[in-house]
Amino acid sequence: MRTGNLFVISGPSGAGKGTLVARLLEEVPDTWISVSATTRKPRNGEVDGKHYYFMSRQQFQKLAQDDELLEWAEYSGNLYGTPRKSVEDHMAEGKQVILEIDVQGGFQIREKLPEAHLVFIEPPSLDELERRLVNRGTEDAQAIERRLSAAKMELSRKDEYDFVLVNDDLDVAVQQLAAYVNEQAEMTK
Ligand code: 5GP
Repeated sequence: MRTGNLFVISGPSGAGKGTLVARLLEEVPDTWISVSATTRKPRNGEVDGKHYYFMSRQQFQKLAQDDELLEWAEYSGNLYGTPRKSVEDHMAEGKQVILEIDVQGGFQIREKLPEAHLVFIEPPSLDELERRLVNRGTEDAQAIERRLSAAKMELSRKDEYDFVLVNDDLDVAVQQLAAYVNEQAEMTK
């Protein structure tokens, strides 16, 4: 069994983080993905407790006040946060714990847990990012604009991450991410 490690995966909405992380699970068997709390409304097909814990602002604020969130941030008008206990439990079990969170959350994690590994997923270009967001069809035009402006802010901070990965060819990106996770996990064995 390997020692538990914490990995933050950030990058603009539409960079393909979700798909990459799902594939990472298949490649690296001892990974575990944290399920965040959010005040965002579920998209079609999203399941409570699987994709997110969907809740009201009031419920979210109670969690934050009770110090049950390891980090939290407002992104594009909604609140998102990482439940503390399940992350701590899975790390203690020796899992490679993955947090798919925005850069504000990533830097909070680095403050609290400097040994965390911060990975930034970069889209091939902003044009490609916009194309992916439009094709995904989950957001209206205004929400896409907000997400593109959030993307520019996030991209401006990528150099502060430990590892930057361009998600151009998905298969290549999965292999690069898996190699990075395995390398870091082996180092702390
Ligand atoms: P989406 O609404 O597209 O699911 O997520 C929007 C953004 O919120 C993404 O960048 C995603 O990584 C981020 N996010 C999801 N969960 C969390 C969380 O627990 N904390 C923080 N800080 N960001 C999160």
